[in-house]
Amino acid sequence: MLFSAVTPRITATATANPSLLHHSSYLPAISLPFSSSFSKPLRPSSRLRICAIDAAQPFDYESQLQTQYLKSTSLKIAIIGFGNFGQFLGKAFVRHDHTLLLHSRSDYSHIARQLNARFYTDIHDLCEQHPDVVLICTSILSTETVLKSIPFQRLKRSTLFVDVLSVKEFPRNLFFKYLPQDFDILCTHPMFGPESGKDSWVGLPFVYDKVRLGDDDEERVTRVGRFLDIFAKEGCRMVEMSCAEHDRYAAGSQFVTHTMGRVLERFGVESSPINTKGYETLLDLVENTKGDSFELYYGLFMYNKNSLEQLERLDMAFEAIKKDLFGQLHQVYRKQLFGNSEEEKRTLRSVQKFLPNGAHVEPPKES
Ligand code: NAP
Repeated sequence: MLFSAVTPRITATATANPSLLHHSSYLPAISLPFSSSFSKPLRPSSRLRICAIDAAQPFDYESQLQTQYLKSTSLKIAIIGFGNFGQFLGKAFVRHDHTLLLHSRSDYSHIARQLNARFYTDIHDLCEQHPDVVLICTSILSTETVLKSIPFQRLKRSTLFVDVLSVKEFPRNLFFKYLPQDFDILCTHPMFGPESGKDSWVGLPFVYDKVRLGDDDEERVTRVGRFLDIFAKEGCRMVEMSCAEHDRYAAGSQFVTHTMGRVLERFGVESSPINTKGYETLLDLVENTKGDSFELYYGLFMYNKNSLEQLERLDMAFEAIKKDLFGQLHQVYRKQLFGNSEEEKRTLRSVQKFLPNGAHVEPPKES
């Protein structure tokens, strides 16, 4: 292996500058202590020179340096809640050479093995490994129960707690309520999921709020930077905003998107041979939202104080559109029924008599 890896480099370098092969001080010459089955045994005089520093060498300084660098930048990240979204994020963390420790209500040891990560069925065992970052990735509804079950006393005093919940004020308040004062807090929301981010995260929004950081400690600042770097390096659009701002925007966009996706799914949109571009967008919307659990959707509604208002606005908008359509339809019917406006006025007057409070009935506007 060593022989075959080195030979092409020597040839290439020698072709470019043949004098190098005769220049004994270019790089130290080494003799290979073996003969392979596809080469003649090396005679003492046939010396092999290594002419490229990234060629495999008995002491590979470069790879040592690389390992040291990775170790120094790698984080020990504990994911608590290793369901749909936890697994999706876990794969990215591994891609960025971070160490994963996992815990969930269900046993995901088999998936952990595939990721070269360790799954802990007992949360105490996980905490005793002293992760740098604890990432809460449980359902919104179960977050409080899960937080209460974490033995904080087993963690390092400066541990960084991160959440990825789709609502932000709620986990921030829970962190303030339950976490020891020394812990750092980063609230985040990757605004994409296993479906919308399956091919790439480039350009997808990642919202974060550095809620509490030990600012005077450089290491803690670096640590949070390294965590955010995972998403920045994947090409996410990094958006720093407060949890309250996030919830206001998300109710108007994400909650409405999920609601429409669910309405259309229940309505039963199906692909046809004459799909328009607009209709394809609707099918994509259903596809994007149907993978998410109802629990997640309910969490968006229940734990974002702005969602109810958006649901009501949606309802009102739907009613208003129906009214516009039926109003138009009535007008056409009336014309067909009465033909002239005198007769129409008489009918309206007689209808008015039957209204409980004698309210005035507006004649339909001509368009
Ligand atoms: P989810 O249904 O919101 O959450 C599933 C996770 O919650 C699983 O890990 C599950 O554990 C855990 N869980 C549920 N009930 C539990 C309980 N009573 N006790 C302990 N653990 C419990 O689905 P998800 O898509 O995986 O989302 C996880 C989090 O990521 C949510 O907070 C969501 O808002 C956020 N998020 C999701 C997306 C997305 O696209 N899916 C995007 C951004 C953010 P087990 O699997 O072990 O049962």
